[in-house]
Amino acid sequence: MINKPEQTEFAINLMQHLVTATFVLDTDGNVIIWNRSCERLTGITADEVIGTSNHWKAFYSNHRLCLADTIIEGRTNELDNLYTVSAQPSVYGNGYKAENWCVMPRIGKRLYLAADAGPIYDNHGQLIAVVETIRDQTDQKIAQKKLEELAVVDELTGLFNRRYFNDHLDSEWKRCAREGSPLSVILLDIDYFKQYNDNFGHLVGDECLKSVAGTIQRSLLRGSDTATRFGGEEFCVLLPGIQQKGATKIAERICANIEKLEIPHPTSPVSQWVTLSIGVACILPSENDTPANLLTLADEAMYRAKAGGRNQSFCAETD
Ligand code: GH3
Ligand code: MG
Ligand code: MG
Repeated sequence: MINKPEQTEFAINLMQHLVTATFVLDTDGNVIIWNRSCERLTGITADEVIGTSNHWKAFYSNHRLCLADTIIEGRTNELDNLYTVSAQPSVYGNGYKAENWCVMPRIGKRLYLAADAGPIYDNHGQLIAVVETIRDQTDQKIAQKKLEELAVVDELTGLFNRRYFNDHLDSEWKRCAREGSPLSVILLDIDYFKQYNDNFGHLVGDECLKSVAGTIQRSLLRGSDTATRFGGEEFCVLLPGIQQKGATKIAERICANIEKLEIPHPTSPVSQWVTLSIGVACILPSENDTPANLLTLADEAMYRAKAGGRNQSFCAETD
């Protein structure tokens, strides 16, 4: 039979062997256990926090609840406001899990921490303590973010890719439909790019694509305008809230900026420099229309710009 102080000592010693940072609060919210992994993670020693309710200072600069506190204080309904991600995982019964970025005051590092906390009851079902474990998931989070970014970015040009464009077009379409505002799209295609590649080789062609992409991006002045590499030597710009007139102006600006780059294209029949043909379309999104129709209109306009002699922009008639 282990008596109570021995039980506590046993529990404390056990905790020291855990590689996961762990602390335990009593029902007054005071720290009764703060293991070595927790000291390593936070830079705060057990001596500094045991017997106090200062554990929050290990994670935050301003006073706020930790996950364990929300269980003790019966305030788990506030978790969504306190954490980026939070849930009550069914596998752990009455426990809760939560994740967020913390700028750790003592060690001065920004860490993405995943916390699990659960109540401990005595034999009579009375709450006697809450245990919280914390895992540092910074490396995984950064890797995951990089993968997510890579999935939507075109490797060669650094612009968004077509997958991103499709999602973005759908959401902007819905937003503009709700707000009753126009949505414009500009399709841009490099003129005689096959000849350019044939003349200079594919690698020089790649450099040209990068310069054109950078210039398209720099020609956009609002953060809400998105440039994407649509595929091959085609690019697309989405302009939410922009009327046909404004979109045409931007298309002409891009057209002029590309010619000003003066990328030599001696085998082009239209100019000594690399040029673009551009199609512009503007729609007032509604339930009776589709994002695909907006793209078709821009595509048709772009082919009219090609047919009309290239190195120019053409606007679809939508009124
Ligand atoms: P048009 O004026 O009618 O648009 O003629 P074009 O030659 O530009 O059009 P076409 O569709 O015949 O050729 C597109 C060329 O773009 C062919 C292809 O090799 C080249 N291309 C597509 N993607 C890449 C790429 O990633 N790098 C390079 N260097 N070339 C590419
Ligand atoms: Mg093309
Ligand atoms: Mg082309």
